[in-house]
Amino acid sequence: MAARLKGKTILITGASSGIGRSCAFEFAKTSPEDLKLILTARRIDTLNEVAAEIAKVAPGVKVHPVKLDVSKPEEVSSLVESLPQEFRAVDILVNNAGLVKGMDQAPNIKAEDIDIMFSTNVTGLINMTQAILPIFKARSDGGRGDIINIGSIAGREPYQGGSIYCATKAAVRSFTDALRRELISTRIRVIEIDPGQVETEFSIVRFYGDKEKAKKVYEGVEPLTPDDIAEIVVFAAGRRENVVIADTLVFPNHQV
Ligand code: NDP
Repeated sequence: MAARLKGKTILITGASSGIGRSCAFEFAKTSPEDLKLILTARRIDTLNEVAAEIAKVAPGVKVHPVKLDVSKPEEVSSLVESLPQEFRAVDILVNNAGLVKGMDQAPNIKAEDIDIMFSTNVTGLINMTQAILPIFKARSDGGRGDIINIGSIAGREPYQGGSIYCATKAAVRSFTDALRRELISTRIRVIEIDPGQVETEFSIVRFYGDKEKAKKVYEGVEPLTPDDIAEIVVFAAGRRENVVIADTLVFPNHQV
């Protein structure tokens, strides 16, 4: 697997915490000599800390942290041009940035929270895909690359109190399926990984910082760690080119 990832340039959205951060470390550990990582998120200070930690464990990996809000089309469209030349030939895009705001019955969800969920989880992911696909298609060998979308079990099994978030993740699932079909004659792989419960900052963000409410969600379940998901992301990316891990649901034992 390490040989297949050798020298790759990997762009991860939402790399400042949770699953995205773990993916950065997992890729770096798998191919520590010559990988290039573009780590993006809104919190640039946190990304700089992630970059410094990676430098300690995998000094051969080149890391380029970028402050990027995926929900802002103007930031996404200027991203590629702003990259240093050595980071421009992106091979793998991990569309991971996402969030849930407000767990409540649909009529009670605030308009601004509906907007931030759709503009991040859906439009942001589409914006990123549109920005990076031309790089994949322009390759002299006829086009190649991996798009790895982090969906959710919520996109398959909607639940009460999560209607808007579930709708965003169902949209991700639909977009991913359609994109895979559009690219069927190319060497571009389109992969979706749908986590169940994973303990990350996500759990706190969804209850506006209320840690007690966040803890209750995990009653009776030992949630996954972000590393559990990162291992699967890197496994999918490291398969030989003809193998597409198209669609994977991963949840902790005992999650209903
Ligand atoms: P975290 O809250 O730990 O990470 C979310 C990441 O997304 C952060 O790095 C955050 O960085 C970034 N982010 C949020 N909004 C934006 C934005 N507008 N632009 C750029 N970056 C943004 O949560 P997880 O690691 O758990 O979440 C990662 C993905 O996994 C999400 O898509 C989530 O929906 C999905 N998921 C999570 C599950 C879970 O139980 N945790 C279950 C199923 C799916 P910053 O704040 O610095 O911008």
